[in-house]
Amino acid sequence: MSKGTVYLVGAGPGDPGLITARGIELLKRADVVVHDRLANAALLRHAPHARLIDVGKGPDHSWLQAAINALLAREARKGRCVVRLKGGDPFIFGRGGEEAEHLAKRRIPFEVVPGVTAAVAAGAYAGIPLTHRDHASSITFLTGFPEVGPLPDVPMNGTLAIYMGVRMLPFAAAELIRRGWRRSTPAIVVEWATTPRQRIVTGTLASIADAATRARVQAPALTIVGRVGALRKTLAWFERRPLFGRRIVVTRSREQAEDLVSRLADLGADVIEVPTIEIEPVRNWRAVDAELAHLRGYDAVLFTSQNAVAVFFGRMSERGLDSRALAGIRVGAVGPATRDALALRGVKADWVATEFTTAGLGAAVKGHLPKGARVLHPVADRRSPDLERILKEAGLRIVNLVVYRIRKPRATDVSRLPEADLITFASSQTVRNFVALLPAKLRTKVHRIPVASIGPVTTQTARELGFKVVCQPRRYTIPELVKAICRTRS
Ligand code: SAH
Repeated sequence: MSKGTVYLVGAGPGDPGLITARGIELLKRADVVVHDRLANAALLRHAPHARLIDVGKGPDHSWLQAAINALLAREARKGRCVVRLKGGDPFIFGRGGEEAEHLAKRRIPFEVVPGVTAAVAAGAYAGIPLTHRDHASSITFLTGFPEVGPLPDVPMNGTLAIYMGVRMLPFAAAELIRRGWRRSTPAIVVEWATTPRQRIVTGTLASIADAATRARVQAPALTIVGRVGALRKTLAWFERRPLFGRRIVVTRSREQAEDLVSRLADLGADVIEVPTIEIEPVRNWRAVDAELAHLRGYDAVLFTSQNAVAVFFGRMSERGLDSRALAGIRVGAVGPATRDALALRGVKADWVATEFTTAGLGAAVKGHLPKGARVLHPVADRRSPDLERILKEAGLRIVNLVVYRIRKPRATDVSRLPEADLITFASSQTVRNFVALLPAKLRTKVHRIPVASIGPVTTQTARELGFKVVCQPRRYTIPELVKAICRTRS
């Protein structure tokens, strides 16, 4: 069998957006991913088919380096595409060099994909340019003393980035002062740089060791020393984003959550994902196929979710059909996201509800179709009765065609729920499922957390189930929900 290749891939410092495009491409292709503690678990989503091997569960449980080296070689010899995912850059203080040497000696093909190293990331996210024409013309990456050896010679008045161990901070600071660095030189500790947990302790060479101890700084943390540290006063940006420091629960299904999660995270929120539903296309397509064969018998097709669009068009395509099958049939969408999902498939919606609820869609449609007209509504196994009621009252004939099911997820991690300061709900069904999956001991606590709801129907359900709804946008869309959340204060 041909030899596989080992890719030593830099995962970046923590924010999953800071891996390279090449890194993601290799994760997608990997048969095996060998990762450790500092590589953000969110990155592993890019490798849904790979075997994941965690070789670094915390400082006490990490594998021996020799065992990791042997593992990489063994997997590559089996012909597999192996991604060795390492925090930051693989060749900076991560023993990536040793892993590469081991492979080189055995003539196992390897490649190295650089990553954003912690010092560079911490500088960027703390608002500290590591070099600056007026303040510093060198940057030194340091680690390993006093355990491994004395503090190396470093250029006076440049910038220092000290990796690992807040423990060595007292030695490093004292030694620099002894060598003539000013006691007032800015020194800044950055903990969990680039993540929603990023925390910063500022001080001077004289004060930083005590300040870090008082703040109970934990690994991973990095210290930046140098005059450039003073620029943070003007250039800090990370903590100034509107939702920084807010811990917000997203209860949508994994398929749907992405948009809301990324919008909240972009504004600085620490997003806690607690998916409460899973979406699953029906297993038996007989009823759906029968309707697809008779689409011409309908005057209109109404879509009340993006999921319905995705599943309906997916099945059409499996049956050899495309959007032309809807020629001559009018199409309605419950809101802009559903409208866009249709547009992606080449269908321009004739109606979009002005109020983005199923009732709103009913209202938008009913005046435009003659009595007795036939309306197809591809939908989930659970649905709101409003649309059906309104159309029937208008004398229209509606067929609710179940194309997907809503399921409770098999396993949901609720451990971080009690820390949350806001819960978001984007449908009544998520509210009900959320309540159903709450362990009894968390119930009282979680019911005290304020809720942001997407619209009136969801708000009503949430209130009925005992939540305090503090926020609901005027237009019932995800972007408006996010804007409304920004206006609330925690
Ligand atoms: N190869 C990695 C470094 C591994 S050594 C890189 O290039 O970044 C581990 C040390 O890196 C930690 O002890 C800490 O000093 C630093 N580090 C890694 N990620 C960090 C983060 N998100 N915030 C602050 N320091 C970090």
